Amino acid sequence: MDCLFCKIINKELPSGIVFENSIAVAIKDIYPKAPVHILIIPKKHIVSINQMEEADKELMGGLFLIAKQIAVKKKLNGYKLLFNVGRESGQIVDHLHLHLLGGKMDLEL
Ligand code: AMP
Ligand code: ZN
Repeated sequence: MDCLFCKIINKELPSGIVFENSIAVAIKDIYPKAPVHILIIPKKHIVSINQMEEADKELMGGLFLIAKQIAVKKKLNGYKLLFNVGRESGQIVDHLHLHLLGGKMDLEL
């Protein structure tokens, strides 16, 4: 499958991995939009939240726990967690990923 994040997960492409466990990897975003910008990527190829199934509930919870762990480790006072879903939202990589954005940034929702 020609998927950028599957290649990163399989170590076929280099990346700045900051965390890895049995369900996910976390990497530094190559074009950071905040002082801390990490992508938490499940090892299971799921295109987006739109393709999420009942069986993925526990996995999705696991992604949030990883985000919290990284935020604690990096001593972030506050941070944003974001999924882009579909092109219109800005999703460019069709392998679900949770953005962890920390530090001072322009993005306000
Ligand atoms: P999204 O727009 O939600 O699909 O997010 C994809 C993110 O992946 C963007 O913030 C990109 O900067 C980031 N990205 C693209 N290629 C790479 C790469 N090779 N390594 C790390 N991050 C990447
Ligand atoms: Zn993939």
